[in-house]
Amino acid sequence: MAIWGERSDGRNSVGDVFALIRDRRDITRTEIGHHTGLSRTAIASRIAALAGLGLVREREQAPSTGGRPPTLLSFDAAAGIVLSAAIGISRTRLAVCNLAGEVLSVTDIDQEVALGPDDLMPDVVKRLDVMLQEFPALPVYGVGLSLPGTVDRDRGCSRDSPILRGWDGVPLRPYFDELQRLSGVPVIMDNDSNAIAIVESHGYEDVLVIKASSGLGAGIVAGGVLQRGAAQAAGEFGHNKIAAAQGLPCRCGDTGCVESIAGGWAVVHALQQQGRSVRNLRDVVEIAHEGDAEARRMIRDSGRYVGEVLAAAVNLLNPAVVVVAGDMAGAYEIFVAGLRETLYGNATAQATRTLEVVPAAHGSQSGTVGGAVMVLDEVLSARAVDALVAGATRA
Ligand SMILES: [Zn+2]
Repeated sequence: MAIWGERSDGRNSVGDVFALIRDRRDITRTEIGHHTGLSRTAIASRIAALAGLGLVREREQAPSTGGRPPTLLSFDAAAGIVLSAAIGISRTRLAVCNLAGEVLSVTDIDQEVALGPDDLMPDVVKRLDVMLQEFPALPVYGVGLSLPGTVDRDRGCSRDSPILRGWDGVPLRPYFDELQRLSGVPVIMDNDSNAIAIVESHGYEDVLVIKASSGLGAGIVAGGVLQRGAAQAAGEFGHNKIAAAQGLPCRCGDTGCVESIAGGWAVVHALQQQGRSVRNLRDVVEIAHEGDAEARRMIRDSGRYVGEVLAAAVNLLNPAVVVVAGDMAGAYEIFVAGLRETLYGNATAQATRTLEVVPAAHGSQSGTVGGAVMVLDEVLSARAVDALVAGATRA
């Protein structure tokens, strides 16, 4: 599904031919001719330019009866790498991915308290440097960076975050420029739930992707397009007020937010108040799986409160699917038992008749894979590839 826009019609540049090849598994020159109207010579020169960048490879088909079969062209996902950094409140996950967004290497930074950018970002860059050493010869096409809260994509920083203290307005690209191999490489940022939504649409055009981790947020895909909202703040449902949370203090400074009773941080805090030794939501999920009744109850209740808030969104947007991502999805069955109860109980029959609730297909990797694909859709777009070819020709 084309969340990031479609291939330009009527154009048949090198980038357009690449977009066609990337879209298909295998394609012949004749098929490219049918799609673009280009001559054999024009196709040959475009393929040569793409082969020069290493982005396209040719191979012989298995011989059949009746003459030599045409060669097949395909996108070479091993021609380069992208990096992905999914910053979270209790964990930052770093990945190296190939040009198809498949994870080649992953590292976690566990941080027990939210760190400021000057504490966390140099560590992120240092670890990426170590990971990059496994891939010395491959060009780095870009870095995808996802953060909780509202992200100013143009300025490359967090904005008005109630959660990430000290990050507001701090440009994050310069940290990556410290590393020579990443200097000048595109850094593309988005909110964490949006990054997940990019890869968790499950082929549907209307999808609500919720990230239920330390905090709560949603990525909204409507009519096949990711909706960021007028101020890029769409999906921040963690600070919706609910009756059950009345009077409870939230991390945002307000009281009564759904996060203050259902967010992972609130669940951890409540268990710690009971003297339990849990450090983060992943610990809570682990003891829930071991049969801890209190942990199971709290995860189910979290699902109930989230479902209560989501019911309004389901009535408004009528998604085909609600996808559950984030650390809560580690206890998917328990969380969703609660979520279904209030979601189906509070949303209209029309909006829920065919509604499905499913776990994130990429599991705990959905954030990092989403960050990688977010970059790939930009740096491998038809226009970006045209620019690469122009640069290679000039050089
Ligand atoms: Zn709040």
